[in-house]
Amino acid sequence: MWGPRTDAPGNAVAPLIDPFQRAITYLRISVTDRCDLRCVYCMADEMQFLPKRDLLTLEELDRVCGVFIDRGVRKLRITGGEPLVRRDIMHLFRRLSRHLGTGALDELTLTTNGTQLGRFASELADLGVRRVNVSLDTLDPDKFRAVTRRGDLGVVLDGIAAARRAGIKVKINAVALKGVNEDEIADMIAWAHGDGMDMTLIEVMPLGEIEGDRTEQFLPLSVARARLETRYTLTPLPDRTGGPARYVRVAETGGRLGFITPLTHNFCESCNRVRLTCTGKLYMCLGQEDAADLRAALRASPDNDLVTQAIVEAISRKPKGHDFVIERAKPAVPRHMSVTGG
Ligand code: SAM
Ligand code: SF4
Repeated sequence: MWGPRTDAPGNAVAPLIDPFQRAITYLRISVTDRCDLRCVYCMADEMQFLPKRDLLTLEELDRVCGVFIDRGVRKLRITGGEPLVRRDIMHLFRRLSRHLGTGALDELTLTTNGTQLGRFASELADLGVRRVNVSLDTLDPDKFRAVTRRGDLGVVLDGIAAARRAGIKVKINAVALKGVNEDEIADMIAWAHGDGMDMTLIEVMPLGEIEGDRTEQFLPLSVARARLETRYTLTPLPDRTGGPARYVRVAETGGRLGFITPLTHNFCESCNRVRLTCTGKLYMCLGQEDAADLRAALRASPDNDLVTQAIVEAISRKPKGHDFVIERAKPAVPRHMSVTGG
C-alpha cells in the first residue's frame, strides 16, 4: 500500500528551513548497508550487516521521499552501502522517477562503486538519471583489488563505459589515501578529464570502526593539492553545490576538479542536506550523532502525518556544524559511511 500524501493542518507544503535559515533541498538516502566490496577505509573485512527486517521497504523509502519532496526537497541521491546491490532497487528508481516527470524533483542520482552499472546503466538513463558519481580510488588493478579487498577494476571500467554510452554523465570520486594512491592522483585526473569526466578528491573521514589505523590512511588534501600544483595550474571556481566540495579548473586538462575536505575546512554554513539511513534514521549532520527515527513514524500509521511531523521536528534540531577530529583514537562517529551513505 502506498500511503496517501497528507499534511498536518497548518503545515501544508511549508518548506523545510532549519534554525540557521538553511533550506533543506537535498536528501541522500542509503538504501542498504551491504556492499559487494570492502574498501579498507570504509568497512572491516568481516561486517555484521543489518537484518533485512530492520530495513525500510522500497515502498517505505518511496513514501518518505515523497514527503520530503512535498516539503521542497529538489534533489535525491541514492547511496549505500552499494545501492545497486539492493534487491529490486530499480523498483525504487521507477517510483521516484515520476517526480522528475511532474517537475517536483530536479535531480535523481546515485553514488555507486560501479560494479553493477553494466547491468543497470541503460535503465537508469531511461528513468531520468542524468549523472552518477562513481567511486574509484585507483586505476591499478592490483591496488584496486587491495583497496576494495575483492574488486575487479575491469568490471568497474566497463560499468563506467556503459553509463557513458547510455548518456549518463560520470563523476569520479577518489579518496586520497596516503601510501596507496597519492602518487597516482595526477594521472587519474588526466585520465578522467581526458575522457570528459569531472573528478573529486575526498579526505578520509573518521567514520566507523575499521581494521588498521586511520591516521595512517589520512592524506590531507592540502598536501595533495600542493603536489598537483607542481604539474597543473588550478584556478578556483565559484561553483557551489551546498555541500563540502570546492572546485578548481585544471588549465592543462580543461576539466573540473573538486576537493572534499571536511576535516580541514568547515563547510557547514551552506549545508542544504540531510541523510536517511536504510533503517529510516534521519541524520541532520554527517558528523553528529543526533538522529530521528522515521521508521517508527512510517510504520505507526498508513498516512503521512506522523512522518511529516517527525521530519519537521528533526529539521528544527539540525545543528550548526560537525565535529570531526582525526587524531582521536576512536572514530568521531561510530557508524560507518556505508550506514549513513557517502
Ligand atoms: N558504495 C558506493 C560507493 O562506494 O560509491 C556508495 C556508498 S560509499 C559509502 C560513498 C562514498 O563514501 C564513496 O565515495 C567512498 O569512497 C566514500 N567513503 C567511504 N568511507 C569513507 C571514509 N571513511 N572517509 C571518506 N570517504 C569515505
Ligand atoms: Fe562499498 Fe562504497 Fe564502502 Fe567501498 S566505499 S566498501 S564500495 S560502500
